[in-house]
Amino acid sequence: MSQTNNLKYEKKTVYEKAGEKIVAEAYEYAKGYVKFLDAAKTEREAVIESVRIAENAGYRPYTFGQPIKAGDKLYYNNRGKNIFLFRIGTEPIDNGIRITAAHLDSPRLDLKQVPIYEDNGMCFFKTHYYGGIRKYQWLALPLALHGVVVKQSGEVVNITIGENESDPVMYITDLLPHLASKEVAKTVKEAFSAEKLNILIGSKPLEGTEKSSVKMGILNYLWDTYGITEEDFLSAELCLVPAGKARDVGLDRSMICAYGHDDRVCAYPSLTAFIDADESIHTTMCLLVDKEETGSDGVTGMQSSLITDIITEISKALGANEALVRANSKCLSSDVTATFYPNFSDVYEHQNSSLLGCGISMCKYTGSGGKGGTSDASAELVAWVRRCFNEAGVVWQTSELGKVDAGGGGTIAKFMAKHNIDTVDTGVGVLSMHAPFEVISKVDLYESYRAFRAFYHF
Ligand code: MN
Ligand code: MN
Repeated sequence: MSQTNNLKYEKKTVYEKAGEKIVAEAYEYAKGYVKFLDAAKTEREAVIESVRIAENAGYRPYTFGQPIKAGDKLYYNNRGKNIFLFRIGTEPIDNGIRITAAHLDSPRLDLKQVPIYEDNGMCFFKTHYYGGIRKYQWLALPLALHGVVVKQSGEVVNITIGENESDPVMYITDLLPHLASKEVAKTVKEAFSAEKLNILIGSKPLEGTEKSSVKMGILNYLWDTYGITEEDFLSAELCLVPAGKARDVGLDRSMICAYGHDDRVCAYPSLTAFIDADESIHTTMCLLVDKEETGSDGVTGMQSSLITDIITEISKALGANEALVRANSKCLSSDVTATFYPNFSDVYEHQNSSLLGCGISMCKYTGSGGKGGTSDASAELVAWVRRCFNEAGVVWQTSELGKVDAGGGGTIAKFMAKHNIDTVDTGVGVLSMHAPFEVISKVDLYESYRAFRAFYHF
């Protein structure tokens, strides 16, 4: 028989390859994802939501040193900002662990430690941006305040303002076009400075005060509503994110526009696939981490020793050699990639770009320039994942972020690989990545779920 039909590699869409039934399932699956997005705009909220989903599926908190046996469904909530879930399989753990790893933090505007000031009858919050943002995108938008204030006593005050219809929102003002003739001649970098990303939070003076009367009005409100003082902001983690819910995009509703697809669009399919794969014989893990957007540092980031601590503890409890467990483990680092967009075709290399609707994207290597800062997955691992996805009928593609010298970016893959765990990046392509509202395709999201589920079983 002639082989000519299989000689050429051709990328196809999920619509062409998987058919109507899968597309209908994808639309249905996306509804759960939208709920997750709306409930979880910060890593702390995403951990709370993940715990809720895991507990409903029978997962229980793990403490170091506790006995472990096959069938155990456990999670470790790390300081409320990252969560590792794992399920002990029936085969020997020496065969390795199947791991997916995504991040829960997203670019945003954090409040500075001393944030409140008054200027010309207006009161503001000073901010310090978190992650890579294009600053101009955050102006003239309704913003919501999310986070915690931890009082000296240790009491935690949770704050969310701006998500309910009746809530007030906050706002960064921009210059009117009528007076912007000088401004528009500047470079984008010159025109938008971090110190101008100040949030308008009030303009009504407190009666009976002369100096800083608007600020006094705000402080009064905060005391009456939350019982917090200006000094309490010193020990707070508060951030501004775009206000509002996730929405369908397109007349065909094929896409979703939302804040924080990067990386909830991978975290959600990782988590749901992990939970739905509970008949797998393998020991499985789902890692949902913090601080990826700022370099994976810190106790809740992927560079913390928590991952090796947990693998060591599980191995010890099961009488296995943890070095062997790591050597035999496989990890899909699940993070987003850039979807090819024709308006900016000059920065993409089409043949090797992630295309909208063509399924989950695999990046063998990330980094920048001459593959700087990448763990570059081996051909053997890529072949193994390729077989896994193809046998399960998953629609998938390969991708590089953009043209070789156009820029670059990294993920947590290299921090997993550092522990001698075979790792490759697989995730969903995003349009307008790191913008206040990003866009993804529902079928790409669903293929990620199907891919992760196949991986947990394979
Ligand atoms: Mn990411
Ligand atoms: Mn990112």
